[in-house]
Amino acid sequence: YLNLKLKPNNMSLRKVQQVIKPRPHHYVGDGFRVHNFIPAVSYLSMQRMSPFLLLDYGAEFYFPPAEKPRGVGVHPHRGFETVTIAYKGKIAHYDSTGAGGIIEEGDVQWMTAASGILHKEYHENNWAKQGGNMQMVQLWVNLPAKDKMSEPKYQAITNSMMAKHSLPENAGFIEVISGSYKNAKGPAFTFTPVNLMNAKLNKGGKSDFSFPADYNSGLLVIEGEIKINDSEVAPVNNFVLFENTGEDFTLEALENSIVLIMSGEPINEPIASQGPFVMNTRDELMQAFNDFYNGKFGFLED
Ligand code: MN
Repeated sequence: YLNLKLKPNNMSLRKVQQVIKPRPHHYVGDGFRVHNFIPAVSYLSMQRMSPFLLLDYGAEFYFPPAEKPRGVGVHPHRGFETVTIAYKGKIAHYDSTGAGGIIEEGDVQWMTAASGILHKEYHENNWAKQGGNMQMVQLWVNLPAKDKMSEPKYQAITNSMMAKHSLPENAGFIEVISGSYKNAKGPAFTFTPVNLMNAKLNKGGKSDFSFPADYNSGLLVIEGEIKINDSEVAPVNNFVLFENTGEDFTLEALENSIVLIMSGEPINEPIASQGPFVMNTRDELMQAFNDFYNGKFGFLED
């Protein structure tokens, strides 16, 4: 019989621009031991990676038992969204709208800070008492100017809510948080097109992806080791930046692997960023600091 496994001849390859090793870690508060990729790596500026403004990656790390949960105390955000993914461990959060909850393993918290929010992020109480391995990601996703001062809100996305696309030949599956993979559509609401998904691939498993060429795209190897486009190899904890020249790329898992894939439509607006605020102009940044110091972000007990 004929195995007609032809690649479409209109396939436009999206080439790898760079495979990027993690920089030395730093601590956010005392609970999040992270490697920053966006924007500290020169290839990964806020403009280059728009709408992704920040990527902090907490590679797997053992925290010994603690009576008082480690974490980061009350702080503000304005002008964007924070997306927190727990791969290992449990993260508790509370914010000034009265919302709060626990991000369990495999879950995602998508918080729209927009006009302003105060929040705090800690290891979950009981988890902290026992200690354990923590592995997490925090992404900041920009908002277009017209939505920066919209109402803050919050989406708790449990793992079971995510759309799953099973891959043929026992290759594994794609778990969609936002945007889409083939017919699987992620549950997260986004203000601009943002594709965010985990590829959970068995050793030898292959998958293919296609995003518009102008979407800024990258991936983070959470577990295992992968080969991209039958060419570049990326080991665990490395970030892969793609060029914007084509649409399609392929992954092959060299080990059982988990890969976080991100691809978003750039927001082509000026970025004025300082600390926890990301606005369009210096004046708006000053306003954010003034509003924060004048208590306009609400109240949250430490
Ligand atoms: Mn925060």
